[in-house]
Amino acid sequence: MHHTQASDHVVLITGGARGIGAATASLLVAAGAKVVLTDVLDKEGQALAEALGERAMYQTLDVTQSDQWHKVVASAEAQFGPITALFNNAGIVEFSNVERCSEADFERVMAINVSGCLLGIQAVAPSMRRAGHGVIVNNSSTAGMQGYAGLAAYVTSKWAVRGLTKAAALDLARDHIRVVSVHPGPIRTPMTESLPDDMAATQPIARFGEPDEVSRMVQFLICEATYSTGSEFVIDGGALVGHIEPVAR
Ligand code: NAD
Repeated sequence: MHHTQASDHVVLITGGARGIGAATASLLVAAGAKVVLTDVLDKEGQALAEALGERAMYQTLDVTQSDQWHKVVASAEAQFGPITALFNNAGIVEFSNVERCSEADFERVMAINVSGCLLGIQAVAPSMRRAGHGVIVNNSSTAGMQGYAGLAAYVTSKWAVRGLTKAAALDLARDHIRVVSVHPGPIRTPMTESLPDDMAATQPIARFGEPDEVSRMVQFLICEATYSTGSEFVIDGGALVGHIEPVAR
């Protein structure tokens, strides 16, 4: 399979109204893709789609609702043709210690972060088969590769996203659908606005990442990573490699 251009793709992005999803929508539209922006923040999503022009459309989509998924895929396909790429990006964080995490909070995080990805894969796979190929990029986290204190539900959900990626990659491989996961470290978005800059001070690249630093990896995975499936792509300023403490400098 030869690599593709962004202009060859119809990309559906969840959680696309702001943060990493919005940056990815902007980058891909600028590169020539048709982008179906979705979110539960209708005002922001609609405004962004209008600003991006005719290769962008906005649809409301709560990723936990399978009926909404099917409606969105049908209207996206009617407007732009079969979907060739899905960025399962919508997610929430819940700052809670393992003992204080309520069952309701745990289930909400799992529903959006994990079931949302599953429902997305199920909704777009038939469209990708009609296209003859497809790429699904699931947004996990470095919290899908190690633990973090005080983030019990989030860490659990992001490991599950990594696992779902492996299962889906195998089940969809013969349909020419690749499924990969991205693992961002701290990225400056509304999700992390309460976190202090110095949280990144001991990383090899000692700063928060910008949303477009994730977007450019997503574009590469959609367009160019033709021999990668089921695999993990880390964008974390080196944080998983180790931390540079003052004494070691
Ligand atoms: P963000 O909060 O700016 O964006 C998340 C978007 O998801 C929002 O627009 C929100 O409205 C949407 N969303 C929430 N619940 C939804 C639902 N039920 N249905 C549809 N959309 C819903 O955060 P972000 O930092 O851009 O996060 C995007 C993804 O990246 C998330 O999955 C997050 O876990 C992951 N991530 C973020 C970081 C980071 O440091 N910012 C690091 C690693 C992974």
